[in-house]
Parts: sequence; C-alpha cells; structure tokens
Amino acid sequence: MSGRLRDRIALVTGASSGLGRAICLAFAAEGATVCCLDLYESPRNRVNEQTGKADDFNNRIGGEPTTEEIKRRYGQDSTFFVKADVTQAQSIKDAVAKCAQMYGRLDIMANNAGISVESTHARPLGVHETSEEDWDKTMAINAKGVFLGCKYAIAQMLKQDMLPGVKDRGWIINTASVQGLVAYTNTPAYCASKGAVVQLTKQIAVDYGPHRIHCNALCPGFLRTTMTQNIQNDPEQLAEINKAHPFGGMGDVEDVAKAAVFLASDDVGWISGVALPVDGAYTAL
Ligand code: NAD
Repeated sequence: MSGRLRDRIALVTGASSGLGRAICLAFAAEGATVCCLDLYESPRNRVNEQTGKADDFNNRIGGEPTTEEIKRRYGQDSTFFVKADVTQAQSIKDAVAKCAQMYGRLDIMANNAGISVESTHARPLGVHETSEEDWDKTMAINAKGVFLGCKYAIAQMLKQDMLPGVKDRGWIINTASVQGLVAYTNTPAYCASKGAVVQLTKQIAVDYGPHRIHCNALCPGFLRTTMTQNIQNDPEQLAEINKAHPFGGMGDVEDVAKAAVFLASDDVGWISGVALPVDGAYTAL
C-alpha cells in the first residue's frame, strides 16, 4: 500500500460517526491499517430533547459501519471494530493489546471520542445550572478517555522499534476543540474538558519528545456532525455560528481529517505539543 501513512497501524476512537469516521477513512486512504473503536458499531441518530424523537441526520450521511466502508473503498480486509467505552481503562488497554497482537505494533493513536452534553439540552446552561452528572460524564469521556488512550498507546509505543527508515516512534492526535482555546457561551463542562485535552497534549509532547513520540491536538471549529445537529436544525443559531466562521460557515469533517493525516505523517517534522485550530478562522476573529 502506498501513501503518506503506509505501514502504520492506527487506532481511532469515536470511529463510528462524524469526525472519527472521517479520520479513519482518511488514514486508510493514505495507506494506514486502521482499527476502529466506538461505543456503537454504526452512527446513531440523536434524540431531539424537544420533540423526543430521533432525527434522521445519520441516515442522510450514510449509516454503514466504518470498517465496512474501509474494506469496500480500500480493500483493507484486516480492519476491525472494537466495541468499547473510552472511560473504561481495561477496554482501552485490551484494544491497544489487540492491535499489538494482530499487527505487532501501534503507531498512531487518534483519541477522538467526545460528547457535548450541553448541546443535548433544550437550551444552553450556565455553570450554576450545570448538573454534577453532566460535568462528570463530560470529563469522563472527553478528558479521562483521552488520558487513557494516551496512557496505553504510549506504553505500547515505548515497547516497539521504530518503523524502518522512519525517525519517529509514534503519533498521537487528540481531538480538542476551539472551545479548548476560547470560551463559548454556556458550555462549561465541554470547554473545561477540551482545555484539559490541550494541556495534556502539551505535557505528553514534553515528556515523550525525547522518545520521538509526537503528541498534537486538533481544535476544530463547529462541524456538520450529529453533535451540532440541533444548531443545524435551528436557522437562527445556524446563522450566528456561520457568521462566527469567517471562512464560510460550519466546517466539513474531511477538512479536519486532512489535518489529522498531516499530524500522523512524516510531514509533521518538528511539530509536537501544538493545539492546531482547524476552524475557518473562528479563533482569529
Ligand atoms: P459525533 O457525535 O458524530 O461522534 C462522536 C463519536 O464518539 C460517536 O460515534 C460516539 O458513539 C463516540 N463516543 C461517545 N462516547 C464514547 C465513549 N464513551 N466511548 C467510545 N466512543 C464514544 O461527534 P463529532 O462531531 O464527530 O465529534 C468528534 C470529536 O470532535 C469530539 O471529541 C468532539 O468534541 C470534537 N469536536 C466536534 C466539533 C463539532 O462541531 N462537531 C467541534 C470541535 C470538536
């Protein structure tokens, strides 16, 4: 297989839908062998809190499992799906062990699974209205989940030799958000969790740079995924969000996935510990 990521073994969390799915497909297109991890095998539609009904958002973008799509498009028959919760240490440990057992190594870890509890509520809530349960759930998935992914991926990377002709040992890409860099209205748990991802990324870059492990964070602006389904369904909110992205409205997951490929490739060169906005100039405004 040719491509910028040829011979590399990648594990991607949150692989069934939205950005994670796009990262899997982009990695596979560049020659990486991709292992997909998610709570669910296929994209799921979100229940609209106001109507109590599930929107058909994912039916519009295609609901087949990511692994099937990788096999169909790139003939990668050994790709596999792990049903796991990123908050459970043993599950992540087992998923990394499965990659090592099947392919002898893990080169790229994309910690992408995440939630926004705030976006599931009928109206955004300030910190004084945020429940302890929402806070804990957000921190568990968005922050602890990334920590666990990094922890077990790094342990594996440290054990293995570098790929022949490559001067680096591993590439970690953590999905943060523009909300890890700047605040947004009434999303306290989400903003705090993404800020934690940005700082953890820098810490890992410092500690494992001497071992030639890159660690960078992606900070996407608002994307057209299930996470922002409520915004997309509300013309007023959508107009406001579109205006906040000078480069022309909400972003496409494919554009962020291209940045993930760059951060997982040799082109990343001397870059580590960076929180990269991929945001249509949202944070520049
Ligand atoms: P999405 O809801 O389409 O996808 C998230 C995926 O993560 C889903 O497949 C879900 O099943 C999985 N997931 C959730 N909890 C999990 C858990 N505990 N264990 C394993 N898998 C779990 O959302 P998305 O927009 O693709 O979001 C992907 C990442 O991008 C998230 O970290 C999100 O915070 C981040 N992000 C999204 C946007 C946006 O506007 N959509 C902007 C910036 C950052």
